[in-house]
Amino acid sequence: MSQSSPFLSNDQLLEVFNYTHTATAVHVGETAIIQSANDAMLRIWGKDRSVIGKSLEDALPELKGQPFIEMFRKVWLEGMLISGKDTAADLLIDGELKTFYFDFEYRAIKNDEGKTICILHTAVDVSERVLRREAVEREQEKEEALQREQVLNEELAATVEELAATNEELVATNEELQETQETLHVLNNELELRVVERFNQLSESEKRFKTMAEGTDILIAVGDEEGNAIYFNKPWTALTGRSMKDLLAFGWADLIHPEDRDRYMNIYLSALRDKIAFSGEFRILTRKGDYRWLLTNGPPRFHADGSFAGYISSCIDITERKLIELERLNLNKLIEASSEFIALVGLDMSIQYLNPAALRKLGWANSKNRNILEVIFPADRPAAEKLLPGVLAGTNFKQEIRFWNEETGNPFWIEWNGFAIKDQETDKITAIASVSADITERKLYQEELQDINLEMAAANEELATTNEELAQTHEDLIQYTKKLADSEERLLQAIDTGKMGTWSIDPKTLEITVSGFVKNLLGLPLDEPATMDDIMSAIDPDYHDIFNTALSNALNNHSSSDNEYPITNLTTGEEKWVRATGRVFVDQHGHMTEYSGLFIDITEQKLDELRKNDFIGMVSHELKTPLTAINGFVQVLQRKAKKDEDNYEMIALEKTNSQIRKMTTMINGFLNVSRLESGKLLIEKTNFNLDELLKEAIEETYISQSSHKIILHPTCGVDIHADRDKIGNVISNLISNGIKYSDNGTRIEITCKTTEHEVELQIKDEGIGIKPDDIDKLFERYYRVQGNHTISGFGIGLYLSAEIIERHGGRIWAESEEGKGSVFHFTLPLSY
Ligand code: ADP
Repeated sequence: MSQSSPFLSNDQLLEVFNYTHTATAVHVGETAIIQSANDAMLRIWGKDRSVIGKSLEDALPELKGQPFIEMFRKVWLEGMLISGKDTAADLLIDGELKTFYFDFEYRAIKNDEGKTICILHTAVDVSERVLRREAVEREQEKEEALQREQVLNEELAATVEELAATNEELVATNEELQETQETLHVLNNELELRVVERFNQLSESEKRFKTMAEGTDILIAVGDEEGNAIYFNKPWTALTGRSMKDLLAFGWADLIHPEDRDRYMNIYLSALRDKIAFSGEFRILTRKGDYRWLLTNGPPRFHADGSFAGYISSCIDITERKLIELERLNLNKLIEASSEFIALVGLDMSIQYLNPAALRKLGWANSKNRNILEVIFPADRPAAEKLLPGVLAGTNFKQEIRFWNEETGNPFWIEWNGFAIKDQETDKITAIASVSADITERKLYQEELQDINLEMAAANEELATTNEELAQTHEDLIQYTKKLADSEERLLQAIDTGKMGTWSIDPKTLEITVSGFVKNLLGLPLDEPATMDDIMSAIDPDYHDIFNTALSNALNNHSSSDNEYPITNLTTGEEKWVRATGRVFVDQHGHMTEYSGLFIDITEQKLDELRKNDFIGMVSHELKTPLTAINGFVQVLQRKAKKDEDNYEMIALEKTNSQIRKMTTMINGFLNVSRLESGKLLIEKTNFNLDELLKEAIEETYISQSSHKIILHPTCGVDIHADRDKIGNVISNLISNGIKYSDNGTRIEITCKTTEHEVELQIKDEGIGIKPDDIDKLFERYYRVQGNHTISGFGIGLYLSAEIIERHGGRIWAESEEGKGSVFHFTLPLSY
């Protein structure tokens, strides 16, 4: 650089820079090494030139902890400008750390490449300015504080003024209070005077009370606050016969009836505990030794100061009322418990009261909004409607009528007694009452008795007829004995003369040839040949079928025959019985040559048999009459035993009943045999369902015998036209035979088969069975299998059954294997 260069050298520049007033320094690097600092800066720092070349921290150690060193580092690294105004910095000046204020600037000086080459640090000490401003500010604050204090002082002064005013008021109030106190004092004195006066009055009143208490016939007693009685008036001592001393404290309590004592004492003592009024009823022992009912009322008493003083109790004698009440209570209980039907009805016929028995019988829950007519069985209501108005007119009624249970719909008989209830004072009818007894049972007995009476009357009538018949029979028997002698004679003659005819029919021409005996018997001319027509006209028309069947069986099947016929002598009109036996004769080719046999007069024998039958019939009939009566009475007894719940009687009567049933069956059997023999067994056909009949028969059997299991296999599902009772007898007979001839616990099976034309019933048992020899004879009259005679029976059941089935055009037969059980079959035609 030449001498003449107008530019200053670096040193010169620094020189100049030294003189600038603005404190300036140049720093380099992250640690702000002091490159140069002018005097102004050194003054601020309080340092000399020895700091040049030192890092800022080394040069001014007091800056540690202050933000400046970090600011320098930032400016160096980021090439920025940081400046501040009135910024405080603590600097060590003359060994003393002082706070100064600066406006400063740290400016990064960059080269052409933009890289920071140094930091230009300028600072102006504004401490004075800052301090002055702070002093001004402090002054201002002080001023403001003063002003605020001033305001407060003013407010205070105002408050003090107010206080002074209040104080004055207080003084005034105080004065008033004093006055009041004085008035109170006066009042108090007055009060005290009045209390004294009142006390005097009270003693006066107590005196008056006592006089009053003694002068009344109400029982009055006084108790103290402990509950002790302290006074009793005369009526008390008069009633109880005890002295006042005896009654005092709790002495009176000993006289209370033991049943009432605890209850009443409880009332009294618990009222006493709560200091409240009490009231109660009890019986007290009187001087006469009886008890009277008393009603006590005890209001509490209080002392003048309001504290509890005890009780004044007054008692009145309520014995009469109590007795009426008790009577009413008992009456009510009686009505409630009564099994009679008790009702109270308003004048509009609405029910006001029904006792529980009535509700129960009617099946009602209650009687609210119900009319009396609703209790009456609908059919009997018109009768009831006539009765009720009568009561309002003063006529009581007593009527047997039916009420009904609404739940079950069943009526029951009642003896209905209705009467009017009158108001005792006005004598006006206020309601209708009715007390009724259930007479259903009586009614039933009555009906039954009536039935039995009717039966008895019928039985008596029959008895009378039977008696007549008996007389007649007696007469007949005399005649018969006579005839027997005659017939014996005739029989002898018959045997002598061989009085037994022959007959023969030509199978080809059907011409008949008879012997003279036969002609005589039939009343045919001896000198003329007899014809088939002659024979037929002599034979009873009812037997023509039998005759024709025998003939056709002989002709077609070569069967033998043996039949009995009633005949009428065509000349004399005499009626006789004949037996015709017949046999078919064949040649060596098996062709029929003749059908011939004997004709025997069996009139006497037959009559004998008929009489026997009549006799059986009569005896059976006779037996039936008392049996019917016994049956009736047993039923009545059974009902009675059931009602009395007498088990022994019930069992005995059930057994009696079962025996009666057995006997009835036996007697009916004999009656039927007798009727059958005398041609009086009538078949009366109706249409009925066979299944129903079967069920009935099974149920009936179960009633008397439950020893076997009866099984009904698929039902028949047919209606038949037959005599229901008699077919029922057949079924019952076959079932009971099955039971009779098999072990208990075995099964009886009933099966039904239907074809287009007939229905077949099979009754099968698992019993003793029947030998093949016996099986065909079972249906004969009085036939019983040998060896079975330990089992009771007469051998008529199957005989009758066979007759009944045959008369219906059916068949009956048995299948059996000895020891394995039997099956009885019968059929009935379906086409009718
Ligand atoms: P009863 O039973 O009164 O003797 P029945 O006429 O009913 O009269 O029967 C005639 C006989 O047939 C009986 O005595 C009995 O020997 C025989 N019998 C009837 N039913 C049966 C049966 N289910 N099992 C075995 N035997 C029978």
